[in-house]
Amino acid sequence: MQIAFIGLGNMGGPMAINLHKAGHTVKAFDLSKDACAKVAAEGLAIAATAEDAVQGAEAVVSMLPASQHVEGLFLGRDGAAGLLQRIAKGALIIDSSTIAAATSQKVAKAAQAAGIAFIDAPVSGGTGGAIAGTLTFMVGGSDADLERARPLLEKMGANIFHAGAVGAGQTAKICNNMLLGILMIGTSEAIALGVANGLDPKVLSEIMRRSSGGNWALEKYNPFPGVHENAPASKNYAGGFGTDLMLKDLGLAQENAMAVKASTPLGGMARALYAMHSSSGQGGADFSSVIQCFLKR
Ligand code: NAD
Repeated sequence: MQIAFIGLGNMGGPMAINLHKAGHTVKAFDLSKDACAKVAAEGLAIAATAEDAVQGAEAVVSMLPASQHVEGLFLGRDGAAGLLQRIAKGALIIDSSTIAAATSQKVAKAAQAAGIAFIDAPVSGGTGGAIAGTLTFMVGGSDADLERARPLLEKMGANIFHAGAVGAGQTAKICNNMLLGILMIGTSEAIALGVANGLDPKVLSEIMRRSSGGNWALEKYNPFPGVHENAPASKNYAGGFGTDLMLKDLGLAQENAMAVKASTPLGGMARALYAMHSSSGQGGADFSSVIQCFLKR
C-alpha cells in the first residue's frame, strides 16, 4: 500500500520504518532535516513537502506533537491550504498524535466533507514500543475505518483497542497518560526517599517492582540512572517522552476534567510539578527526569 507518513520524531520515525519493513511504499516527511535523515538511512523515501508525501497515498499516518500541529497540517494555517485539499478522495487518515479529542473531531468532520476517512489512533508503549512494533493503539472512529486501518496498525503495534467514536481514542489516551504522569512522580518520590536513606536504587526498585508498588516505570522505564540500561534515565534523559509532551497531556486531561466537572486532584498536582520541572529548563528532557525534583544534591 502507498502510505504517507508525516512526523518522524522519537515515535513517528520508528513507526514509519516498521511500515517500510513490512513491505509498504512509505513516503515520509518531517520539518526537521535530522529526523528525515534518520529514516532515510533505513531506506525510506523522503518527500520534499507534506503535499508531495500525500500524492497518490491510500493512507496518511500523522505523528505530530500537539493539536495545533495536526489542525494546521490538515486544515491549513496562516491562509495556506491544508492537506485535506491534497489527499485523494477515499483515502484514510490515521492520526496517532496525542491531541485534544475536540481537534480530532474537527479534523474528522472536515475530512468527511472532503470524502476522506479519519480515525484518531494515539499510542502508548514509548519509544521502545515504537521500535519493537509493540505499541498499544487506542482508536476512535467507525468499525469500518478501524478495519481498514488494522493491517497497518498491526505492523506498528501489538494491541489495538476500539475506544468508541472519533475522539474516544484521545480520551482513553489522556486518562492513561494522567495515570502515567502521576505514577512516575510517585515512583520517583519513593526511590528518592530510599536513596536518601542509603538504599541502593537498583535493589529498592527490584523490591518495589515485585511488591504491591510494582508499576510500568519500575518494569521498563526506571527514572533513576543506571537501573534500566535502555531507559532514557540511563542516557542522560535523552530521547523518550519529553517533559513538555507530558505537560501537554496533563493539560488536556485537566481541560477535559473541567468540561465534565470530574475531580482529578492528583492529575492537577502532577501538571503543576511537570510545569515547574519544565521551567527549570527540563522541557526537552524525558519526563522521567522529574526525579531530579526529589533527589538530594
Ligand atoms: P517528537 O517531538 O520527537 O516528534 C514530533 C515530530 O513532528 C518532530 O520531528 C517535528 O519536527 C515534527 N513536526 C512538527 N510539525 C510538523 C509538521 N507540520 N509537518 C511535519 N513534521 C512536523 O515527538 P514524539 O515523542 O515522536 O511524539 C509525537 C506524538 O506522540 C505526541 O503527540 C506525543 O504526545 C505522542 N506520544 C509520544 C510518546 C513517547 O514516548 N515519545 C509516547 C506516546 C505518545
